[in-house]
Formats: sequence, structure tokens, C-alpha cells
Amino acid sequence: MTTVLGCIADDFTGATDIAGLLARSGVRVSLRIGVPDGPPRDTAAFEVIALKSRTAPVAEALAETRAALRWLQAAGAQRFFWKYCSTFDSTAEGNIGPVAEALMTDLGVDQTIYCPAFPENGRSIFMGNLFVGRQPLAESPMKDHPLTPMRDSNLMRLLEPQVTRPVGLADRLTVARGPEALLAELAALKTQGVAHVVVDAVANEDLAVIAEACRDMVLMTGGSALAMPLPGLYLADGTLSADARGAERPQLGTGTIVLSGSCSAMTNRQVADYTRRGAPSFKLDPLDLAENGAQPVLDWLAAQDLDAAPLIYATANPESVRAAQERLGVAGAGEIVEATLSASAVAARDAGARRVIVAGGETSGAVTKALGVSQLDIGTEIAPGVPWTYCRSDGQQIALTLKSGNFGTETFFTDAQQRLPS
Ligand code: ADP
Repeated sequence: MTTVLGCIADDFTGATDIAGLLARSGVRVSLRIGVPDGPPRDTAAFEVIALKSRTAPVAEALAETRAALRWLQAAGAQRFFWKYCSTFDSTAEGNIGPVAEALMTDLGVDQTIYCPAFPENGRSIFMGNLFVGRQPLAESPMKDHPLTPMRDSNLMRLLEPQVTRPVGLADRLTVARGPEALLAELAALKTQGVAHVVVDAVANEDLAVIAEACRDMVLMTGGSALAMPLPGLYLADGTLSADARGAERPQLGTGTIVLSGSCSAMTNRQVADYTRRGAPSFKLDPLDLAENGAQPVLDWLAAQDLDAAPLIYATANPESVRAAQERLGVAGAGEIVEATLSASAVAARDAGARRVIVAGGETSGAVTKALGVSQLDIGTEIAPGVPWTYCRSDGQQIALTLKSGNFGTETFFTDAQQRLPS
């Protein structure tokens, strides 16, 4: 099927997040891990390419994104969505702006919008400032993220150093006046040379207005929630045919493994909840891993009953993370944890795990790579923005869910298992 919308996400959980929200409409959504080798095959109406570019050097992020764009164009897409995190995760040398500008250049467009709002998950934008629940971003737990600590809440100020052309705002007062008012504002900003427009949204109704106004924009950028209304709009106007149906659930074995490399506040609560319920668990310590390697956890795993859905986690509080980073470096600590969780995933699969639950964006990237997964079909949703996906790993049909740090409620790990009964 010809692709109607081509999405590029800067990390793996971001990709499953947008893919899951697009799939809510019942249309088939296919997710590719990295830019596929060779020309497009078996393409879906909505194609999402997951990159691992959020914290990559800018040049690398640009090259990967441009290759993804070319692949999606070859799949027939004429509209594109650049998806980043609803907390606008980026470093000062961040990739969000440069990637957007590269896409604009390649697509020949002179304006795009930025709207990471995700009201169902408590992310809202007002007067260009991003809130997490009731807190400004820079006062939320995101200020302590291991790789992308967010110390400013104002999206224009975050974006300006990352781009070469002017940044502006279409505020909530405009959005509240409806799609035509927003289009008029975008046009007015364009005449002033504003290429990058942050758009306020505090509720799903705002996102519906923005999506309706911008549905034919060649390039939109933002969080996954902004893309959610697009399938419905494309079905209604005939851009998308009604036979673009979603994925069937495959037959799966019962063995389950839970792997957590996220240190977000929510994941800390999820791990605490899961262990409180008596789930078998193994806590990884990066310093111990650096000294003694991964064999102890692999030995522990080999002795587990996978029907009891054991948990292996490096999830820790900000003080422990800082202590590990001081000794091993930020990248060093991250890599050792990711490598261990990846090895655990492979060992669990080889021991019969067919349901794999992963917490953490970077962690998910590392785990899917180790499992050799390259394409996932989107299945049932566990929490807003977190679906189960169906894929093949080493010839086995498996189900995989990839949860980004702050997503899901406290009971996510059990919710996931309940959403996929045997
Ligand atoms: P999130 O989705 O919450 O951002 P990520 O997996 O993207 O989670 O990022 C968390 C990073 O922190 C990963 O690189 C992970 O390996 C690293 N990490 C996990 N546990 C620890 C720890 N105890 N100490 C230091 N770094 C850690």
C-alpha cells in the first residue's frame, strides 16, 4: 500500500508511541527499526522509522534522518512527521532543530510547527512553555534525566540556539479560535520570515484544531499526540482508503521478561510496584557490572521460571545515577547497563521468553538491536502511547513493548501482561 504519512522518530519508544497512537484509528501501522536496507517492501499506510538519534552527534542524526526521509519518499509518502519526545528532550547542541531544518531543506518547505504536547500524559504547552502535569518542564523530574537534563521550560528559548532561522509562537488564544485562525496566524508569521513556529496546546481539542489546520503541511514536527487525529482526517477526506486495516494478534508462547533501564520518576515507581507484588527481580549496579561483568545476572536469569515474568532493572534514584556516572562517565554508565539488559533479553528469548517488556528509550533501542528486530506491527495499546508490538526475533514470533521513561501508570508491568493474555 502507498504510504500516506511517513514518520521519523528520534528514539525507539518515541516511535512505538506515535505508531500506537496512529494505530488507535484501526489502520495498519508499520514500524521500522532504523532505515531499512533496500527499497520499500510490504509498506503500510502509516510508516514510522525509529532512529536512535536523540543524543547522537548532530552530523550523524542529520545523515540518518535524511536517509529515512528518502526511504519514506520512495514508499510514496508526501507528508512527513518528525517526532521527538513530549518533554522536548535534547541537549544544548540538541538535534531537534537541526534535523527539522534539514528536513525542511530537503522537502523545500519554509515553515514547520513544533508541538510536543501530549495532554493525556500531562504534557501541555502554554505561551510556549512546556508543562509536565502542573510543573514547568525545568522543575519536573526531567531536570535530572541521565542523558538530557531539561533546565529550561520555554520551547522558543530551547529551539533558538538549535536553528538558523527565526522562531515564533502561535499561542493558545489563536488555537482556541479554530483551524482557520491558526492557518491565518501561520501565514502571518511566514510573511515575517518565521520558519519555526511553536504551537500551544493544553488539551486534545487543541491538537484536533492544529492537526486539522496542518494536515496538508508537508512537514509537521511534534509529539505523538499531534499525529493521532491524522488517520481520521485522512480517512474522512479520502486521502486514505478504508481498507488499510490493522495487525492481527499472533500466537505466542507464555514466557515473559521485564527489562528496565529507565531512571525516570515513573519507572522508579513501576519497578517498586512490581517488586512489591513479589515478582522475581535482579537489580543491576553499573559499578558492579564494570567490575564483575554480566555473568551473575545471566546465571540468575537461567534459574528463573519465565512464566513468573522476572524483572531485571538498573532503574535507580538520581543520587545513585549520579554516583555511577561520576565513576564511569554518563555514556560509560549508560552503555554498560544497555549492554547488560541487551544480553539479558537475548538470553531470555533463547530460554523461551516470547513477551518482552522494556522500559527506557535508549534501553529499548539497544534491546531491539540485540534481538535483531527490524520491523514491528503495532498491536493492542497498554497505556497512552505504549502499544504491544508483534515482530520476529531469530525466527521466533515475539511480542515486544517499549515504554519510554515517564509513560504508563505505576502498575504498567502488570498492565502489560494483562493486556496480552495467553
Ligand atoms: P528514559 O526513557 O527514562 O529516558 P533511557 O533508557 O532512554 O530511559 O535512558 C536512561 C539511560 O540511563 C540509559 O542509557 C541507561 O543505560 C542509563 N542508566 C540506567 N540505569 C542507570 C544507573 N543506575 N546509573 C547510571 N545510568 C543508568
